[in-house]
Amino acid sequence: MEHPGRRAGVPMKLLEYQAASLFEKHGVPIQKGVVIDSAALAAGAVKKIEEAGLAFPVVIKAQVQIGGRGKAGGVKFAENAEEAEKLCARMLGMDIRGFKVKELLVVEKKEIAREWYLSIMLDRYTKSPLLIFSPVGGMDIEETARTSPGRIARVPLNPMEKQTPLYVIDYVLDKTGTDKNCRAALLDLVQKLYTLFFAYYTMLVEINPLAVDARGALTALDGKIEIDDNALPFLPDISAWRDKLQEDADVIEARKSDFLFIPIEDDGSVGVMSNGSGMLMSCIDLISKKGMKVHAALDLGGGATAERIAEAVRIMLGRPKITAVFICVFGGITRCDEVARGACIAMRKNEAAGKQLILRIEGTNKDEAARIVAESGLPITVAEGIPKSVEAIFALHQKEGGGAQ
Ligand code: GDP
Ligand code: MN
Repeated sequence: MEHPGRRAGVPMKLLEYQAASLFEKHGVPIQKGVVIDSAALAAGAVKKIEEAGLAFPVVIKAQVQIGGRGKAGGVKFAENAEEAEKLCARMLGMDIRGFKVKELLVVEKKEIAREWYLSIMLDRYTKSPLLIFSPVGGMDIEETARTSPGRIARVPLNPMEKQTPLYVIDYVLDKTGTDKNCRAALLDLVQKLYTLFFAYYTMLVEINPLAVDARGALTALDGKIEIDDNALPFLPDISAWRDKLQEDADVIEARKSDFLFIPIEDDGSVGVMSNGSGMLMSCIDLISKKGMKVHAALDLGGGATAERIAEAVRIMLGRPKITAVFICVFGGITRCDEVARGACIAMRKNEAAGKQLILRIEGTNKDEAARIVAESGLPITVAEGIPKSVEAIFALHQKEGGGAQ
């Protein structure tokens, strides 16, 4: 049975300070910190830092949903108030690999002896949570993976067992040649992280670096959490954070109707819509094989009513770079006439834009659908099967002089 909006989970990537607040809730040690936005900056960033009771030196960190901020100039140290004020002013509004910095996290700088790597991810290969540990963490973890793979341990965890066994910790420490002084602290931390992993339906919880100080105490200096967005209805506190994240406006617009909108290639001209991710991927593959580029894809989920189709087509047609929209709907009980009617509603409103629609639908009332399209007089092509549809898209593409793409 199909449910409206049912589809594979897409990770919602939290900002560092959001991840840190979940760490704090679960007893994972973090640094004392405060978030500074432009309003706080205007009111005096240093005042805010002092009010929060932070001692200098501090670390000022750009809050964007990508890793590698340190290397991109998004993590800076300030010895005193004056430096902090200057850095806050300089870093707010900065662009880090296409993400605009709207907030900064300022934390007390921690003196550290070593940087470790620790994460738990949902691993589709072993179909279980996978614990990953390395004593050679920090900004060059990718380098560690390449040059000393032996210093990274991966252990699938039994999802039915909510307690992490001590032998798992012993194994990762032995395998990676890490001294065992922190054994108890690491077990405690992994256990807390594992509880958080399940409580928030996460696909990834990562601490890099996990700092070890001179006394062997562990602190999470960075936090990356990705949550399965299908779980958001159960997580109102996390859903409320969505507004803070930088997303394509159409992703947000589509979500309101329970559609999944996926921007693909910015210079592409084809929009692909379907009811299922497998079908979408097949369509994208065939279109790409023909040398064309897909600009965006939209997963309708279930329930193809005329209104829903019209709304989805409207979103696709609204993308200036899309010149052809391909709707590929395969459904035993899907009413093709509904799909055709929805497509016509959206195309009629958009007639002037000179955009084309290619329709491939299988299901009840297929002939009726073809009749509705034929009588509409709109630039809609009904095609039989995916390969013929792709041919039709290609023919339109050629006609438009799509070689310029
Ligand atoms: P990322 O580059 O986006 O992963 O940002 P991180 O938060 O991991 O910071 C990058 C690097 O800055 C870390 O790997 C550390 O080497 C360093 N760093 C960040 N915070 C601190 C701190 O409090 N103390 C020290 N000593 N180094 C820090
Ligand atoms: Mn990091």
